[in-house]
This record gives sequence, C-alpha cells and structure tokens, in this order.
Amino acid sequence: MTAKFKTNSQDQLNPNYNPLELEKEIRQYWQNNSTQQKLEDCRLKNNRGLLGFVEGPPTLNGIPHIGHARGRVMKDLRYRWKTMQGYYMPFWAGWDCQGLPVELEVEKLLGVKNKRELLERVGEERFIQECKKAIMKYHKEWVEADHKLGIFINQEKAYWTYHDSYIEREWQYLKRAWDQDLLEEGHYVVAYCPGCQTSLSSAEVGYEDSYKIVEDPSLYFKFKLANTKDEYMLIWTTMPFTVVTDTMLAVHPEAEYAKVQVGNEKWIFVQQRVRSIMQELKIDEYETLETFPGKNLEGRKYEYPLKDLVPKLAELEDKNPLVHRIICEDFVDVDTATGVVHLSPGNGEEDFFVAVRRKVPIFAPFDDDVKFTNDAGAFNGIFARDADQKVVEELRKRNALVEVKTVKHEYPTCWRSHHKLVWLARKEYFLRTDKINAKVLEAADKIEYFYDSPKNRFLAFLKEGKPWCISRERVWGAPLPVWKCEKCGAKTLVASKKELLERAIEKPQGDFELHKPWVDRITLKCEKCGGTMRREDFVLDTWHNSGASPYARFTDEDYEKYVPVDFLTEGIDQTRGWANSLLLEYIILTGKPEPPYRAFLFQGLTQDAKGRKMSKSLGNFVEVNKFLEKNSTDVCRFYFLRKCSPIDFVDFDVQELSRRPYQVLSTLYHLNRFFLQNAEFDNFDPKKHTLEWTMQEKQLKKADQWLLSKLQETIETYTQKLGTCEFNLALAVLEDFSIETLSRLYVPMVRKELWTDDPETGKRRLAVYTVLWNVLKTVTLLFNPVTPYLSEALYQKVYKRLDDTLPESVNLEDWPVPDEKKRSKTIEEEFQILFRCTSLVYAARQSAKLKRRWPLSKMVVVAPQNICKALANVEEVFLELSNVKAVEYGKQHKDTEDWTSTTEGDVQVFVETKRDDSLLGEGIMRDLARRVQALRKELGYMPTDLLEAVHIAELDEESNNLLQPYLREMAELVRTKQVNLHSSREELQAEWHESQLDDKKVYVAIA
Ligand SMILES: [Zn+2]
Ligand SMILES: [Zn+2]
Repeated sequence: MTAKFKTNSQDQLNPNYNPLELEKEIRQYWQNNSTQQKLEDCRLKNNRGLLGFVEGPPTLNGIPHIGHARGRVMKDLRYRWKTMQGYYMPFWAGWDCQGLPVELEVEKLLGVKNKRELLERVGEERFIQECKKAIMKYHKEWVEADHKLGIFINQEKAYWTYHDSYIEREWQYLKRAWDQDLLEEGHYVVAYCPGCQTSLSSAEVGYEDSYKIVEDPSLYFKFKLANTKDEYMLIWTTMPFTVVTDTMLAVHPEAEYAKVQVGNEKWIFVQQRVRSIMQELKIDEYETLETFPGKNLEGRKYEYPLKDLVPKLAELEDKNPLVHRIICEDFVDVDTATGVVHLSPGNGEEDFFVAVRRKVPIFAPFDDDVKFTNDAGAFNGIFARDADQKVVEELRKRNALVEVKTVKHEYPTCWRSHHKLVWLARKEYFLRTDKINAKVLEAADKIEYFYDSPKNRFLAFLKEGKPWCISRERVWGAPLPVWKCEKCGAKTLVASKKELLERAIEKPQGDFELHKPWVDRITLKCEKCGGTMRREDFVLDTWHNSGASPYARFTDEDYEKYVPVDFLTEGIDQTRGWANSLLLEYIILTGKPEPPYRAFLFQGLTQDAKGRKMSKSLGNFVEVNKFLEKNSTDVCRFYFLRKCSPIDFVDFDVQELSRRPYQVLSTLYHLNRFFLQNAEFDNFDPKKHTLEWTMQEKQLKKADQWLLSKLQETIETYTQKLGTCEFNLALAVLEDFSIETLSRLYVPMVRKELWTDDPETGKRRLAVYTVLWNVLKTVTLLFNPVTPYLSEALYQKVYKRLDDTLPESVNLEDWPVPDEKKRSKTIEEEFQILFRCTSLVYAARQSAKLKRRWPLSKMVVVAPQNICKALANVEEVFLELSNVKAVEYGKQHKDTEDWTSTTEGDVQVFVETKRDDSLLGEGIMRDLARRVQALRKELGYMPTDLLEAVHIAELDEESNNLLQPYLREMAELVRTKQVNLHSSREELQAEWHESQLDDKKVYVAIA
C-alpha cells in the first residue's frame, strides 16, 4: 500500500469526527492566537457601523445551568454573525452582584436564618465581605461556562454592579428622577416578605412560580349596623388578621342588596349571592325581607366589634367620621363572596387608595418582622399571620363570627424564600413611574419584539403602570443616596463620592466604599437648619442596579456611541425584570419617550426532558460546566438553536443530542474531509482554480450550476431568518442544503468523476473541487455563529491549509452575500423535474427487482414537452443518477414484457429490464466494487490510498466470465493496481472477508 496523501498529520482531519477533542484543540488555538481580541480590535479599527450592546448581567448567586447556556448561545450567535457582517459591537460581560438573591445565598452559606440573626451574629461589615467572596466564587463558574461554550464575550471589560464607579453612575438616574419629582418617599402598600424582611416590587410579585396553592382560613363574619337592634353586614375574608386594621366597609352602589331574616337576626349582603351563601352556610330557614341598591347603605355606621382590644383604632374612629362607615365603590365584586368588602388600608393596595382619596388615615401597626406593634393593643407582638386564630376567637366571643373553615387557593409567595407575602402599608421610596406611563408605552411601541406573544405580555405588564418601590430594607446593595435632617426633616440627594466627601461633617476613616455600613457613617449638615442629616436606611432594588447598565457600564463617550443598543435577548421572565427596568430608567434618565434598545428577543425557558422545571431539589438541574466536560459544545449549541423557536420552552433531552444534531455536524465534517483528500491529491489550488477559471475552461456543468444556484438561495434565506430571530427555521434551511442538496444529491452526481486519476479529465476534477471549495467554505462560514468550533477547525485544517492568504480565523471572514449572477431559476426547475423523474425510475426498478447499481440499457420518458425538454437539458445527470445508458423521449410507449414502468400524473417512465452479458458483467462488477469500498473504509484506508491488489475468491464460473472484461474498470473504481480472481480461498494466504452476491457467497481480500 502506498499512501499518496500528502501527510501532515498534525493539521489533518481525523478519520472520525470527535467534537470534544476538536473543541479542546480549537479552544487552545483561540487562546494561543488571541483570536477573540484580534476580532474585536479588527472590527473596532475597520467596520461598517457600530451596534450597541449591553450585557444582561447574570446574578452571581449560583452556578450556571443549561438554560443559561441557551440564552448565552443566542447572544453569541448574534455577535459572531454581526461581526462577520463587518459591524463592531461592544460584546462585553457584566455581572449583577448585589441584592436579595445574593444576600439569601450568602445567608444560606453562613447558616443564618433571617436578617435579625444575620445582623446580630455576623454584622454588616463581615457580611459584605462574605457577599463579595461568594460572588467571586460563582463568577469563576460563569467565566468557565462562557469559555467552554465558546462565547466570545469580553470578560476583561466586564462591569460589576457593586463597584463604586458603577454605583455613582447608577445614582445619576436617581438624581434625574429627583430633579423631575419622580423619586419620593411615601406610605404605600407593598408586598412584604416576612422571611426576607423586605418589600418586593410589584414586578417581583408576578414572577413565574411565585403563586402557590396554600391553605388559608375562610371566614364569614358580621358587623352590626349602628342604631339597629338586629341588622348585620355579612362579610367574608381569607385573612382574618386584617380585621385588626379594619377601617371601612365597601358595597357596590348599583348592585341589589338583600336584607335576609336568619333566626332572630337580619343579615345584609348582595342579593344575587343569597341562595348560594345560605347553601354554603347550611342554613335552610331564611327569608329575604327586602332588597335595595347598595347606594342606600352609603354612610351607614357599623359597630366594629374589636374596639376594646384595639384602642388606637377606636381613637381614629373618633377623629375621622368615615372610619367604620359603609362607602360605595365600583370595584366591589358582587359575583363572589358577599358583595360586602372590608377595607384595611394598612393591608391592601386598593383599600389604601380608597382611604387616601377620602383622606382616611392609614392604620398599619406593624414592625419589620410583620408583628403587630403596641398600637394594635391586645395583638401587640403577634406575627400578623399568626393572629388569625385570635381574631376568630375574639369575633366568636362577640357574636360576630358566622363560620370559619379552611380554603385552598392560589396565593403569592416570595419568589426567593417562598414565604406567604403580606401586603403592608410601609414608608418606602418610590420611582413614580405611574406619572410617566404614557411615555413608557410610547417608547415600548417602538421596539422590535420578533414574536407577538411575548410582546403582548410585556405591553400588558407595562400598562399596569404602577409606581416602582425601589427601596429595600437590606444590607448588600447600592445605597439609596438620600440624607434626611434629624431636626427639620429636609432631604438631599447626593450623587457622587466626591460631593459626599465635600459635604460630610463626619466621614469614615481612610478610604471607604459606597456600601453599608461605611456610607451610613457619613453625616451631612442640613443647609436649612444646620442640623445633622443621616442617610435613609435603604438599599436599592437590585433590578434598579441592572436597569442602570446602559449608562452605568459605559463612559460618557461610549454611552453616546452605543446607546440605544441594537439588540438584546433574555428569558421571558425578564418582561417583568430587566426589560422593564431598563426601559423605565432610560426614560427617567433622558426624559424622552425612547427605549434604550431597538429590539428585544424574549426566550422561552429550558425544562428537563419531561417538561418539568429544572431545580436542584428535583435533581434534574444540569450544570453547564459538568455537562460540557462530556458533551460537545457545538452539538449542544446546534441543538438549542435548531430544536425549536427561541420563544418556545425547550424540553432539554440529552439523548437527542447524539442523534440528528450530531449527524448533521458529522456529515459536514466528512464532506470537508472528502473534499480535502481528493483536492489535495489532484493538486487543487484555490488561488488558480477559481469559478472564473472553470468557466473559461468550459468545465462547469449543469449540476455545478444548480448547486451554486441553490447555495445563493440558502445564503439569502438563512441570513433573512437570522435577522428575524427564527433561528430554528434558519438552521432548517442550512441543514437541508448541507445534507440533502449537497451531500445526498450533488455528491453522487460527481463522485464517479472524482474516482479516476485519468489526466485527460484532470481539468474537470479541478472544476468540481472549485465548486466544492466555494460551496463548502461558504457553508462553513454560515455555520460559524452556530458551531464556532467546527467552523474554525474546518477553516484551519481545510481552507487555510489550501490557501494561506486567507484571514487568520474564520471569524475574520466576511459574511457571505448571495450573488444574483449565480442564480438560475431555469436550472433549479430543470433539476426539480430531474429529481421527480429519477424517483420514478427508482420506483420502476424496484417493481422489477432491479438494483440501482445494476446498469440498464434504455429508458423512455413519456411526458409533456416542457418536461422532456428540461430532462434533455440535464440528460447527463439524469442518466448518471438513473444508471441507464440511454434515454428516449416520446409521446407514447408500449408496456411489453421486457419493460417496466411507473406513472405519476402526466409523467410516465419506461425502463428496459432485459440485461445482456455486458450489463450483467458491469452489474456484478459494481456490486463487488461496492463491497470493496465498504471494506476499504472498514479497514481504515484513506479514499486516496492506492491498493496493491484486490482479491476475489469463489465466484461461480458464469459470473467470473461476465466479470472478466470489467476488471480494469473495477481496479480504477476501487483504487487498486490490480484485481485478481481466485477459484478457491486456499490459493492465497490472506485475510478473507465473506460477502453475499445475489444469494451466493463470495470472498474478498485486499492488500
Ligand atoms: Zn422572601
Ligand atoms: Zn434641617
């Protein structure tokens, strides 16, 4: 055996596609050559435009899982694609470092149960150090994941939301809000988590999965109307503790209410619910005495039964005439419960607004643990939700209890700690985003969302337009930069460290950072009264940190260049998160109804193979780093992008990776290998052998033109679908071209031409390589944003190897653009007809049991003229694919004994079944050749290796004779110096391989 292949084993493509090995090698290659940095530098120096980008910062409170990988792959796809198109993009990392998620993670690490214990046992200073340690630990994991995933994001230019420089720029947003009267302190009802001991924003309350089925009391109770003997308002609630803060009752003004005699009492509630409520309470004997509209009840006073227990509330009743009276409100729901709503402005958002409108004081006697304070009298010290039982007992004692049961219902819990949330009126700081809602909606309308469902979801959320509670009663966060005078209550906002130092009367010793507790030690002098000003003890909502990134992560100069950014993509849960905070803050910053991003692609989330959410407790949590130790990044990237639309939820199934995704990439790999081996053998030189050259030499055939035409169509559709974020459809197009058009259809058309090394046809072979070079190289570039490792490997080992003047990396190549001159509708149509007719030939062969590799002498096509004409134009390929020697076109043909036929619509194909000796001999030769080819592959020979000899033994005599004239051709076909026939295996000492030839045994050996 002589190896004709020019071996340079180091840069060789291995016979097997082993993605893990290949990816390791390319990772090293990129690192050794600083490829990522070169790409960024190159596009910065020389570009066709700037596209802004700001990283949606992952929170450093956990290890990246496979769902994160999906999102990062989409970002990287965009980056590689756009840079290949010649744009410069500041694809720089960013990390969300502060806030509740990080605090809770660190509390867990420290084994601390709640905030109080944290402050007592650990203290603020040490806690902050621990938080920093924790984020650095997770940071390492994330960077490694990016590295493995092949994400070309610049880690050196990462922003960190906890850095002073970032916080100062974030403060600029607050300063703008302050100047526009959009930042204010106020009482407001917020969702409060007793576990985390902090309030949540309304966005956080709506998070996926925050609603849980919980069990609560279902309480019917009654308040007696003042100045009546026996008339009661009937009320229902699932939160008995709110009776402690009861301030008013509301009825619907238009609805009909009934006075119902029950025993010796009269109960008043909405008429349409009488029957069902009586049924529910199992009261059979009752009588509706009269009905009247709700507005008749307006202003009636009722006797609040717990007055003796809550003296402070009794005091309020004396001070404000509306306390403990009935009011009318349109929002009262009369389809459920009793149509009589008890209002606790201290514990409900709607109740709160009702009270504020009527100037009724807000009664909210709670401390930070959501325990009742002294103001709640007998309830002092009881945790709100634990007061339910006592309230029920006290109502029972006072003849105010009707019935108490339990009910299971959906109730919001804390998205972090899963405690039941409590609504509380608290003193908080708010961004009055409700005041700029019109601008927000106008800005949101200018954004490209690509898909309707996430767009609608986002817009519906924005329409709620609630004020944004940005204060948090926590430790590890950007401090709220508001100082308040102890004496006169005047407030001031300080938006930089420098200003802070200038105005400070007391400051920490030495250098300090903009965090608790150091920043709290700074006091300022009140400009109004000379008193001491202390910082308001809040940190900022972490969503405010990341929402500030477009301004905070850049310098002024870069901000001007890159914002509004071009395109962002994050998970669908970010409709309430980052997409929202970015938009609100940018409008506050600029004062204009403009969004900070032109396009936002919301991605569906990633679940396990069974469609369940991934979680550590279920044990189905797939860590990126561990996963990619054993699995290919390219295959994984391709899988994520190809499997479904980016907005769909994906059920991640490891089993699926090794199937189609692997096969597609493997086919691409082997196509390149096939090309390289043959092209090198014939000394193909891409600098000399260009498409222009093939045309001058008249070596370009129909099949080549067809392939080139299909390629242009593929480039166009693929690029267009990347632009509309239909990644799965884009890849379907590219996959179809690579697998179907190129591998399954085109290669068989030219394979035979490449087998010979006849110098006569050398030019033709070079023409085929030219076509393959153009097509495969283009496909490699198109794949690069999806499978960067494979593309780089092929680029280095195939294209750079044949042409060292090419750019250093595939990433530095220009994105392919379709060439209209290479497109031909006519040729594409001709080939469509061709494929339709060859499949008819195959069907005819099958019905006559004539194998495809047996040559036949003749066929006749009966079809309309346009079809015959098209076939005639591509006749050479038609004959080649059909494996028939000649074709005739006719108006009709008789189906006789020696013919077989198939019909489909207006096309009929007749194939002659008779085979003479020469056809039989050629058929046997092809059968054997096929077996030898398979054996060569099995034994690991290169396609270009020339064998010394092929031996065939124990063929029957008739076949032996038929085969004789074809031995020369066979030798050429299987690349051997000679083919020897043996009557028995004993004639030669060799490794014989048994094979079947038309039910007869035959033996093959190669050497
Ligand atoms: Zn919580
Ligand atoms: Zn003052």
